[in-house]
Amino acid sequence: MKTFRTKINVGRLLLGGFTTLSFLIIAAFGLLLFFRDADKFRVEAAHLRENYLNQQKYEVKNEVEKVIDYINYNWSQTEQRLKANIKARTYEADAIAANLQKKFAGKKSTAEIRGLIVEALRPIRFNNGRGYFFATGLDGREILFADHPELEGKDLMNMRDTRGAFVIREMIDLVRRDGEGYYRYTWTKPGESGKDYPKIAYLKYSAPLDGFIGTGEYLDDVERDIQQEVLGRIGKIRFGKDGYIFVVSFDGVTLMNGVQPELIGKPIWDMTDPYGVKVIQEERRAAETPNGDFIRYHWEKPTTRTISPKISFVKGFRQWRWMVGAGVYVDEVESVIAAKEADVKHNARIDFFYLFLILVGFLALAFALSYFFSNFIRKQFEIFLSFFTKMETGGEPIDTSRLITTEFISLGESANTMLARRRQAEDARQQSESRYRLLLQNLNDAVYVHEATPEKAGAIVDVNDQVCRMLGYTRDELLALSVAAIDVPEQAAKLPKILTQVFAEGQALFETEHLAKDRRRIPVEVSARLFELNGQPMILSVVRDITERKRLEAQLIQAQKMESVGRLAGGVAHDFNNILTGISGYAELILAGLHPDDPLATDVTEIKHSAERAAALTSQLLAFSRKQIIAPRQINLNELLTNSTRMIQRLIGEDITLVFDPGPDLGTIQADPNQIEQVLINLAVNARDAMPGGGTLRIETANVEMHEDAAGEPFDTLAGKYVRLAVSDTGCGMSAEVQSHLFEPFFTTKERGKGTGLGLSMVYGIIKQNNGVIRLKSAVGAGTTFTIYWPLVAGEAEQPKRPVSETLPVGSETILLAEDEVMVRNLARKILARQGYRVIAAEGGHQAILAAQDPNLKIDLLLTDVVMPEMNGSQLYQTLAASRPRLKVLFMSGYTEDAVARHGVLDAGVNFVQKPFSVETLIRQVREALDN
Ligand code: ADP
Ligand code: MG
Repeated sequence: MKTFRTKINVGRLLLGGFTTLSFLIIAAFGLLLFFRDADKFRVEAAHLRENYLNQQKYEVKNEVEKVIDYINYNWSQTEQRLKANIKARTYEADAIAANLQKKFAGKKSTAEIRGLIVEALRPIRFNNGRGYFFATGLDGREILFADHPELEGKDLMNMRDTRGAFVIREMIDLVRRDGEGYYRYTWTKPGESGKDYPKIAYLKYSAPLDGFIGTGEYLDDVERDIQQEVLGRIGKIRFGKDGYIFVVSFDGVTLMNGVQPELIGKPIWDMTDPYGVKVIQEERRAAETPNGDFIRYHWEKPTTRTISPKISFVKGFRQWRWMVGAGVYVDEVESVIAAKEADVKHNARIDFFYLFLILVGFLALAFALSYFFSNFIRKQFEIFLSFFTKMETGGEPIDTSRLITTEFISLGESANTMLARRRQAEDARQQSESRYRLLLQNLNDAVYVHEATPEKAGAIVDVNDQVCRMLGYTRDELLALSVAAIDVPEQAAKLPKILTQVFAEGQALFETEHLAKDRRRIPVEVSARLFELNGQPMILSVVRDITERKRLEAQLIQAQKMESVGRLAGGVAHDFNNILTGISGYAELILAGLHPDDPLATDVTEIKHSAERAAALTSQLLAFSRKQIIAPRQINLNELLTNSTRMIQRLIGEDITLVFDPGPDLGTIQADPNQIEQVLINLAVNARDAMPGGGTLRIETANVEMHEDAAGEPFDTLAGKYVRLAVSDTGCGMSAEVQSHLFEPFFTTKERGKGTGLGLSMVYGIIKQNNGVIRLKSAVGAGTTFTIYWPLVAGEAEQPKRPVSETLPVGSETILLAEDEVMVRNLARKILARQGYRVIAAEGGHQAILAAQDPNLKIDLLLTDVVMPEMNGSQLYQTLAASRPRLKVLFMSGYTEDAVARHGVLDAGVNFVQKPFSVETLIRQVREALDN
């Protein structure tokens, strides 16, 4: 799967990196600051809350304790105050009495004065009306009793207080003893009975009264006064923001509350706060604690009239059963904390603002830096980029002075080193490449390289010129093809097997055919070899055009076939010739002995003709097998043909026009004229047969010179000079099939009796024997041309032989006849004897030698068969000639034998007579041999 990526450049990367980095740093820093501040704030707030509370608690506790101290002090002053008060009052009354005494002494009687004093003192009330004066005489009579005037004048000496003490008696005792002083007793209160209260009186002796004056006070009354006074004072105490002191009795009655005076006097024992806390009972618990305690509850805040959490310190004053307390609203601190928090937040905002500014600064810096760096790096990279771009076309080293950082410089140096190495390698590669090219192009074989992987389907990657020449493609056309395009279709089936072999063994040698551009099939031998090119498996195929070899092979096979047929024919011909010699010879002999009118003469003549026809057949076979003994001479073909035209015209008949077109200045050739005649006859007869409805037979001659590849003259013989003989007809022509068998003996398309199939075989044999070449051009319906090339020889043509005499020559010489075939031996002996010769006949070589042993026996001619068992004719001649140097010899044979004729060509000066011979031939040849 392909993923698409947006392309990024270094600039963007740097910018992104820098931006992200600064953003992260700032963010981290900001968060750090924020959390630190928040934490600090939290700690501070806790501290604040605690300190504030502690301070508030301390304050209320302090206030409460001050109040308790104050109460305690006032409580402890009660008796002193009481005592001072009654003493002062008593002194006032005494002063009044003394003053009245002084004023009225002498003017009034004691009783009068006493009365004045009593009446002066009687109305005086003090201490909230509770206080009054009394006066008692030392005798125990009551003088003044402002509260109980009915008792005045009565003797109270026996009066007792509630404890049973004689109060008046003790008072009189005190005054008599000390003159004045305090007296403690218990007394009922006016309007109350059954209950007595401790009371203190101050007594002072008053002379005018002869008794004492005094006043008393109940201790509890004073205490109550003090309490009221103290509560009044407490009610006015304020501290802090809205701190005040409250006093509640142990049993839950509000005694003082400066801010909620409506509560005073109310019993609130069961009062609860909005959360169910029994506040007063909690206060009581705290008050019972020796040093007091804090309590927590909710209470209405006087300033805001809202229920707020509150802490109060409460301490008890047992003597008076008072609970004294003061409270503080703890939520007071929250506003302080809120203010503090706002402050912290404000600071944080400022911090963040600065951080933002720093961030912006960083971003700007990042932008500038990344721009700078990316620009810098881009410029550096551009140097490398142009280096690499140029590298494709050779390259140019980097100017390292343009590089700035050490990294780039070392990179540049490496690049330059690489370039240098690459150039070296490139040079080396080019050298080896050109060597390879040279090698490839100078190979005689066609070479191509193609891909070996099946995916690439054998794509051709390289070829040499020979491939182009062979197949007719241009190099570029071939490079666009795959091997399949140049393989013949049937090769496709064999290809996998070949490829398997190549991969297994690294190479394969096989024959196939290639298709040329013009669809021509070219037989080739391919040597395929596996190799690796740039890591890819490749196959190098060396291809040899084996057209020529194939042709030569076919030729060789053909030649071998011809050879064996020839050998067979030769073998048959040998025996056959002997037989035919007998038949025709004897027939001739018979004929010679018969009168021409003898009716047998015609029959014997018929025998003779049949034998001659048989001899002609044998002769053709021999000619084909090149066993025909020939006597080549230097001849001029034009002369020979001129002499033969009449004969040929006779052969072909009148319907066919014979055109003879002799070439000018025709060169001399070496050939047996008889054989040339045989060739001409055979070609003419075939032409005649091909033109049953008439036509033209054209015979042309010309000098030609052959080159290696002379146009229009395909040639497989050596280059050189030739005489060309072309025989063409306008007949039916031949199919390719017929052409391929044409020269085979007994190949004929003609009906039985008409053709023997030996005509062209003979021609072929003759041409080959004479080192010539025969070519054929024919197509069905388009006539046929046979072209024969005879090698040109130097020198002039020989003159034809002198004409032979009409009569058969005779002789008397002695002829030694060696012939193993009895019929031929007897025939020859008979013929020669008839001509007058003395014939010594021998069955073979040994017999002949024996016969010739007599040195007195004159032998003129040795007539010997060539092919004989034990000893051949030639050996026999040599043996005899050793002792008879002047011995002449005439060989006879049915076919050639190297003994007398090398490759059938007679050595010059060798006499030879061809079997089967006619009587005339033998007689003439013998005469000729003797006369030479
Ligand atoms: P034959 O003439 O006895 O058939 P040849 O060896 O002379 O044997 O010829 C072989 C065959 O070649 C002939 O049967 C004929 O079919 C063919 N042939 C030879 N010469 C010609 C020609 N000039 N035109 C057509 N066909 C020919
Ligand atoms: Mg023929």
